[in-house]
Amino acid sequence: MAFISSGYDPEKPMEGRITDIGPKHYDQFYPEVIKKNKGKWSHHEILEPGVLVHVAESGDEVFTVRCGGARLMSATHIQEICDIADKHCDGKLRFTTRNNIEFMVDSKDKVDALKADLSQRKFPGGSYKFPIGGTGAGISNIVHTQGWIHCHTPATDASGTVKATMDEVFSDFQDHRLPAKLKISMACCLNMCGAVHCSDIAILGYHRKPPILDHEYLDKVCEVPLAVASCPTAAIKPAKVELANGETVNSVAVRDERCMYCGNCYTMCPSMPLSDKEGDGIVLMAGGKVSNRISAPKFSKVVVAFLPNETPRWPSMTNAINKMIEEYAKGARKYERFGDWTDRIGWERFFDVCELDFTHHLIDDFRDAAYQSWRQTTQFKF
Ligand code: SF4
Ligand code: SF4
Repeated sequence: MAFISSGYDPEKPMEGRITDIGPKHYDQFYPEVIKKNKGKWSHHEILEPGVLVHVAESGDEVFTVRCGGARLMSATHIQEICDIADKHCDGKLRFTTRNNIEFMVDSKDKVDALKADLSQRKFPGGSYKFPIGGTGAGISNIVHTQGWIHCHTPATDASGTVKATMDEVFSDFQDHRLPAKLKISMACCLNMCGAVHCSDIAILGYHRKPPILDHEYLDKVCEVPLAVASCPTAAIKPAKVELANGETVNSVAVRDERCMYCGNCYTMCPSMPLSDKEGDGIVLMAGGKVSNRISAPKFSKVVVAFLPNETPRWPSMTNAINKMIEEYAKGARKYERFGDWTDRIGWERFFDVCELDFTHHLIDDFRDAAYQSWRQTTQFKF
């Protein structure tokens, strides 16, 4: 396409430059009923999976229909979302903190038409464009990351693993059969962008091989001290290395038996790549939560040390996730989050009922704090 200027002048980059204006104020985008009743809500109810009603002190009602979104979406899809909002909601809509889409209407008689419209929209491949659900004690959207679509440090893919998982748990997106809500999150490396460290079930990309050292370029593209300081286990030290051509260069040495493949050094230094087709895969974690409801917030814990990257549907991963959800649905009491359930029955029982292998990988060995995760009591079940 021929170049079309926006009016920006590369010869005078600072001229007419607008900066630090921040986001638009959210109150510009309120539906009328939200604007009018802001701060004066009396109560709410979930009418059915995906549909809520909030009642204001004035008696006004707002009905919200929540539907799933793939998070990664085209402008065409957003245009379609806008068309729906134009048709049913006076052009207003919102996205949730789990990247679902919420359409709001101000009377009950508008809900059915909106629902019917949303349900009949499908992609040519057959997937629902706007599946309704994600409320209450079910499974809502999966908070996830960039994966092989855009990041340079992933050990797995985000959109792919998430689609495979949501297909498996789709009925729970549209249902409230679980003891409490179950949040699944995904991150494609252990930078953990997102919420894997605090979710009921978490999918995490994991490497199993140390970085490859590109000695020829390392000192030219990296700040060596930064690479050294990036390692949580001090596996890296500065080193002089002789190249094949006899030239001696500044570089680093990695002590492989101290490396646990976190990939932090590669984040700091482009000459230390470590992704690997067979080595990379997935770790599953479970039992985290962020709310303060009854029990305090919890970190999720590693429960499956490694599953291979089985593109494009990751069957071993979805099977393990399914099994955990089914046992939780059966075993947990009402209101118990996943981690509340495992804490009550004991983790040894959790591994039993979910038929997960307990391997030495699951035993914490990171610094002093590891000691706190071992069992300092004779209390356990056979
Ligand atoms: S989790 Fe890691 S690989 Fe994924 S987007 Fe974040 S930094 Fe990139
Ligand atoms: S991958 Fe992680 S543990 Fe291994 S050398 Fe790099 S920073 Fe250290």
